[in-house]
Amino acid sequence: MAIRGISRDLLMMLFELGKEHHPNEFVAVLRERSGIIQDLDLVPGTIVGEESASFFIDMLPLDIHQAGSAHSHPNGVLSPSPADLRFFPTVGRYHIIVGYPYGERDWRGYRADGHPARLEVVG
Ligand SMILES: [Zn+2]
Repeated sequence: MAIRGISRDLLMMLFELGKEHHPNEFVAVLRERSGIIQDLDLVPGTIVGEESASFFIDMLPLDIHQAGSAHSHPNGVLSPSPADLRFFPTVGRYHIIVGYPYGERDWRGYRADGHPARLEVVG
């Protein structure tokens, strides 16, 4: 299924998770329904300590609706780190980074190769 966008509710949830976990990072696996990213599973671990997040993602049941990942950058930088670029292709095609201060514009979408992805905010 082609991914057309991300639900506004899910995006708001990502900002809330960023605030709740600040100054730590959260990592989540994203799932799509009908081409819209609208569900998440929180994953223990961080991408800075990359192995732990990857380990728990490997433990999740294989899901054809898995769309990618989301995680936070408590330092507010919205571009992917070298560790993110190694992590992205292992999880899926679309990746969201939300950053401090977790306001409505404090996010970016990326493809697995780290190029910006245009994701329409739906709802
Ligand atoms: Zn990162």
